[in-house]
Amino acid sequence: MEIFWIDRLAEQVNEKFPEGVIHLSCGLSIRGPQHIGRIRGELCLPSAIKRILEEKFGRKAIHYIVLYDMDGLKEKGAKNGFPNDPEKQKKYVGVSLFNVEDPFGCHENWMEHFWADFGDYLDEFGFEVKIVKTSEFYRMEETKQLIKDLLSKREKVVEIVNRYRKRNPWPLDHIPINPICQHCLSINDTKAVAVDLENYTVKYVCNKCGKSGETSLENAKLNWRLEWPALWKVLHIEFEPYGRDHAAAGGSRETCGIFSKEIFGYEPPLGEWYEWVSLKVHGKNLGEMTASGFIGITPKEWLEIATPEILRYLFISTRPHTSITIDLDNISFYYNDYDKAERIYFGVEEESNERERRNIMRSYELAQVKGVRERIPPQVPFDFACVVAQITRIDEGDVEPALEILRRTSHLPSDATEEEVEYVIRRLKNAMNWVKKYAPEQYKIEIKEEVEETVLSQLSPSQKEALRRMGDFLKKERAENEIWDFINEVCEELGVEKKEFFKACYLVLLGKPYGPRLVSIIKSLGEEKISKLFSSV
Ligand SMILES: [Zn+2]
Ligand SMILES: [Zn+2]
Repeated sequence: MEIFWIDRLAEQVNEKFPEGVIHLSCGLSIRGPQHIGRIRGELCLPSAIKRILEEKFGRKAIHYIVLYDMDGLKEKGAKNGFPNDPEKQKKYVGVSLFNVEDPFGCHENWMEHFWADFGDYLDEFGFEVKIVKTSEFYRMEETKQLIKDLLSKREKVVEIVNRYRKRNPWPLDHIPINPICQHCLSINDTKAVAVDLENYTVKYVCNKCGKSGETSLENAKLNWRLEWPALWKVLHIEFEPYGRDHAAAGGSRETCGIFSKEIFGYEPPLGEWYEWVSLKVHGKNLGEMTASGFIGITPKEWLEIATPEILRYLFISTRPHTSITIDLDNISFYYNDYDKAERIYFGVEEESNERERRNIMRSYELAQVKGVRERIPPQVPFDFACVVAQITRIDEGDVEPALEILRRTSHLPSDATEEEVEYVIRRLKNAMNWVKKYAPEQYKIEIKEEVEETVLSQLSPSQKEALRRMGDFLKKERAENEIWDFINEVCEELGVEKKEFFKACYLVLLGKPYGPRLVSIIKSLGEEKISKLFSSV
């Protein structure tokens, strides 16, 4: 039997490291807003492995997120962050992220600002994630010891590194660290010229401000390809996924693995690379989400329109090397896919392909953040939720009218628990937010109280007749299939094209020629109200 891809990874970790606590890691450089694409490899995957290690193998596992806040701000980031302020762009380019001011002035610094919309929601997407900032990492005793060892044998280090820097080798006396300039705070433009390991200090010259100085080695960062393996060693990392950019042959992951072994004597962690996530919104493909280009939506924004489980399900059910484009116009697709998995999981719907069924079941299970429920939660199809949310103005606070509709239409069972009711309310609110922020025109509705004169003049006699008959038919409550049958019949009888009939219905109901599923509107408004409107044409 083929084993699910994340189970296989967890099994490999368990076998290779049979003893002690397992440390899983991932890393983010907060150069701009952190998008949901990062959740794929940095949160979702390690958290699923953590859960499997704990539940299936009885292991203890820790999940770290390393925030590279010592990294210098790049030019593009500076331009995006301070678009109308060339002086600040110049001031902060090359400066460590924690030393850059918050462009919006609401947080302590740049890093804290852009981390908030991701970091505040970690528990929604993962389990007990621990944060390590590189600015703190360089103050840890173990790190200091490692840097002392490294710098005391630095000729050997340079020799090893140079095997992989053929085109641009370091001189033999190179010191592979960048201190923070104490005058202009740049970390990208400094060059270390001498170290005093006894006092743990470094002398440097700065190419940005032209000054030179001396500072503690705590204020210096290792060259990136040494920093990554140093983090592995100090944090005892056994598994770390990585984005496609690091995965190429001869790329940073491979050389860092070699440096880890040869320089630090540390067996590099296992890992898996993952493909980027692109974003499509308002009909436009924006390409891969990036932090420095400010393309993407943040976890905070995602939670306004959907649950963490829906996103986790997407990332877990998709193999890691497959690229994903999240299309916000068609968010109902992700809802429907998730709901279907849920029905299959709870045995309400069948999946005849056995392999497919197992993958869906496992993906659904691992997508749950708070564990799987005892019974299937009430499912309100997303399109229907959009209609109900708008008709009842759920955003204005009173949820009771909406719940009333859901009870009447059997979407909410009478014995629903408090948690299940909350679940449904959340979906309605998410739907409302989505309608306001992303929905294409046809999803937006405002029900007319009476038929408008301008609409009446647009309708043909046979369209009017069809509407009146429909009005008559809807004097009673009707089942969905009865309504469909009736529409077919009446259109055939009167020789009205179905397209024209729907157009007439939407014009009367919404004042525009299109809209969401007609039956959704009928069911949420109730037959009686529709009947009155249609009979009055
Ligand atoms: Zn802020
Ligand atoms: Zn400087």
